[in-house]
Amino acid sequence: MKRILVCGAGGFIGSHLVRRLKAEGFWVRGVDLKHPEFSASAADEFVVGDLREPGLVHEVVKDIEEVYQLAADMGGAGYIFTGEHDADVMHNSATINLNTLECGRQAGVRKFFYSSSACIYPEYNQRDPKNPRCSEESAYPAAPDSEYGWEKLFSERLYLAYHRNWGVDVRVARFHNIFGPEGTWTGGREKAPAALCRKIAEASDSREVEIWGDGLQTRSFLYIDGCVEAIRRLMASDFTGPVNVGSEEMISINGLARLIMDIAGKNLGIRHIPGPLGVRGRNSDNQLIRERLGWAPDRPLREGLEKTYDWVAAQVAASRAIPVAIAS
Ligand code: NAD
Repeated sequence: MKRILVCGAGGFIGSHLVRRLKAEGFWVRGVDLKHPEFSASAADEFVVGDLREPGLVHEVVKDIEEVYQLAADMGGAGYIFTGEHDADVMHNSATINLNTLECGRQAGVRKFFYSSSACIYPEYNQRDPKNPRCSEESAYPAAPDSEYGWEKLFSERLYLAYHRNWGVDVRVARFHNIFGPEGTWTGGREKAPAALCRKIAEASDSREVEIWGDGLQTRSFLYIDGCVEAIRRLMASDFTGPVNVGSEEMISINGLARLIMDIAGKNLGIRHIPGPLGVRGRNSDNQLIRERLGWAPDRPLREGLEKTYDWVAAQVAASRAIPVAIAS
């Protein structure tokens, strides 16, 4: 049975990926600073540890054939774009990638998956919210709009350099806004879909929800199942990447809020307030993934949002129920 290590197995995508790998019959070791927050890990072995520590990394890569590296110091716009966490984001994530590759190579790991991000794309191609350019080759000349994006670009190159110089097999995917149940939904690191689901679930009728900026900024959002499917297909293919893993169904943030309100059956107002924003427009370009994998994620946004809204609304209800239960 193939032995797999998932780094970041306590996180959103990592915990879903572990479940999928177990369902496919692999032996899985997970490693993370923390256990998954919302359900027990499906991993055969779960190591709570810090991948910035080479000693820990040497231990967890032992007897492993494939590594899926998803650990990163990350969050939504409220974490990445304020500038307050730049040094941590760059230092922590780069150290994790340097350790994982070097210790893995020394231990004889044959194949690495690396989760890069759409945040590597140049800001100058994403100023028109209706017409952003995010095809893979447009990454250079490089000009990401955040230090998070710069670290991802550095680490992409690190994986590709290990492939060239050390002969290890690597796969690099650039994720575009992945969302779904069991993702962070409160606390400051949550992303737009979960944050809006929470605000709308919390709002009573005829109230307003707050949106950062004018809400005309555009993005696309990929439901978690499509992301995990893409990871597995890329690993099974002979294509190194980097390749976009995202949805091409672009929507404005105002449009996303309206869609979630429709799902929730609530007619709320929108109040625009200042806040960290990121680029003006971004969409996945799936031409390359279609060409190289003969497949691309294609489920409608609404379908994933319905499942995510139900899950976030249940979290909101449960968090409200606790004090009542204690009081009664
Ligand atoms: P997440 O924050 O839920 O998961 C990342 C995990 O890494 C966390 O559980 C965290 O505890 C762990 N981690 C951080 N530092 C660590 C350390 N020093 N040692 C061990 N574990 C550590 O994020 P996610 O949404 O699951 O994202 C997974 C990967 O995909 C990340 O690399 C992220 O940058 C990338 N990505 C995600 C998205 C998205 O929309 N979710 C988009 C682009 C790229």
